[in-house]
Amino acid sequence: MTAAAGAAQFGAKTVLVEKAKALGGDCLHFGCVPSKTLIRTAGVWSLARRAKEFGLPEVTLPPVSLAAVMDRVRSVIDTIQEHDSPERLCRLGAEVRFGSPRFVDDHTVDLDGSRLTAKAWIIATGSSPSLPAVEGIADVPYWTNETVFSQTALPGHLLILGGGPIGVEMAQAFRRLGSKVTIVEFTDQLLGPEDPDIAAILRSRLEAEGVKVFTGTKALKASVGNGSVLLRVGPVKGEAEPWTVEGDVLLVAAGRKPNVEGLDLPAAGVAYSPRGVPADRRMRSNVPHIYSCGDVNGVFPFTHVAGYEAGIALSNAVLRLPRRADYTKVPWCTYTDPEVASVGMNEKRAKAAGVEYRSLEAPFREVDRALAEGETEGKIKVLVTPSGRILGCQIVGHHAGELLHEWVAAINGGVKLSTVAGAIHAYPTLAEISKKAAGSFYAEKLFSDRTKKILRFLFDLKGRACTPEGNAGG
Ligand SMILES: Cc1cc2nc3c(=O)[nH]c(=O)nc-3n(C[C@H](O)[C@H](O)[C@H](O)COP(=O)(O)OP(=O)(O)OC[C@H]3O[C@@H](n4cnc5c(N)ncnc54)[C@H](O)[C@@H]3O)c2cc1C
Repeated sequence: MTAAAGAAQFGAKTVLVEKAKALGGDCLHFGCVPSKTLIRTAGVWSLARRAKEFGLPEVTLPPVSLAAVMDRVRSVIDTIQEHDSPERLCRLGAEVRFGSPRFVDDHTVDLDGSRLTAKAWIIATGSSPSLPAVEGIADVPYWTNETVFSQTALPGHLLILGGGPIGVEMAQAFRRLGSKVTIVEFTDQLLGPEDPDIAAILRSRLEAEGVKVFTGTKALKASVGNGSVLLRVGPVKGEAEPWTVEGDVLLVAAGRKPNVEGLDLPAAGVAYSPRGVPADRRMRSNVPHIYSCGDVNGVFPFTHVAGYEAGIALSNAVLRLPRRADYTKVPWCTYTDPEVASVGMNEKRAKAAGVEYRSLEAPFREVDRALAEGETEGKIKVLVTPSGRILGCQIVGHHAGELLHEWVAAINGGVKLSTVAGAIHAYPTLAEISKKAAGSFYAEKLFSDRTKKILRFLFDLKGRACTPEGNAGG
């Protein structure tokens, strides 16, 4: 949609071919929008449960109607759908055609019997949930992101396969709405690409809320017994005996596969693999006038990256500018509570790249606004070079996804750490955490004994006026 809207506005004759019944893709129908709407509802319920913490009378909460919750999810989708409509694209100048396209050659697509010919094509077909190779999995009742948001009955116990962003977001939301939840994750931490200390903060919050988490654990076999889903699991490493976790339904959130089925890519000579249709930095597939953007190219599975890549493809295809994608500044956020947000290098990525770094940290519990909000969990971690150049930022905490953007702008603009440290931040805001972390780089030097000595010498400063009892120093 981004590519079609942009191309049409540049004046290129554009057709957008969509296989589903409506525009909007995974993000609108089965991804970002329904998940964030569900998370918000679950968050409201969780706050209500915490009423006493805020000095309010304790409230007894009735059971949740998942059908009513999903009605709200549906209504948000419907509202956004109006924006993501064929009529809007038509107003911009792009034609939308619904159907199942198939390449005939590298310029021609067959659309249910009619032929469309174009100078350039952009493949942006997205991805689908992939079913991991676990014995029996296809024969048990399971949900994916494509079915979870149309459920109407809250499961008593939801088993989740996968501790990535989708798994943890859904785990917390369903737990807060009233389900028991168990996550089974293959790697030895949740949210694999994040630093372990950041992921551990989220894990402890999920566990405190009652989510059972098994990491370093492999699903071996799925079956049905006594009306329950039985998932046989075992350790990835070590000798421990396998055991069984039992639930009402299994949510599979264990990876994605590119949507290439039915496109007949070989007819166009387009190379692809189980990871997708690879693209170069100009978003070109191996056939230079066929581009590959979004989840289907297997690089970063985010809506904002898909949009960014569509812009790159457009520059190349329509404006003939050799613009290249730069993935070093891609931010992302997992919308759990606390949120986990990241841009640029974290420790894992810095170590892998052999980059020397210092980590500047500040905890939310030292931020006045976080105390006022009752949201003191988490921290910020800013990675800088030894000389103070900003390499990346990770935040786990309340509104981390919003707070991250000060660092997104800083990194994109090549802003100095001293500028962030010196900028006046409104009080009391959560954003003060960024100033604190940046300031910590200079504080040691600024308030060092050496600085004090020089100032005493220059300005005849008299030193301490007070020394705590039992501390003779100073
Ligand atoms: C539960 C969940 C939560 C998510 N939350 C977030 C989030 O908070 N933030 C974020 O940035 N990302 C999130 N994502 C990821 C995000 O949804 C995807 O990265 C994004 O939708 C990718 O955009 P896309 O254009 O590549 O694919 P899509 O948005 O899926 O669009 C692809 C379109 O192509 C159509 N199509 C498929 N095959 C064909 C075909 N053969 N012919 C014609 N049309 C076809 C599809 O019907 C679809 O409309 C989430 C994903 C999931 C599953």
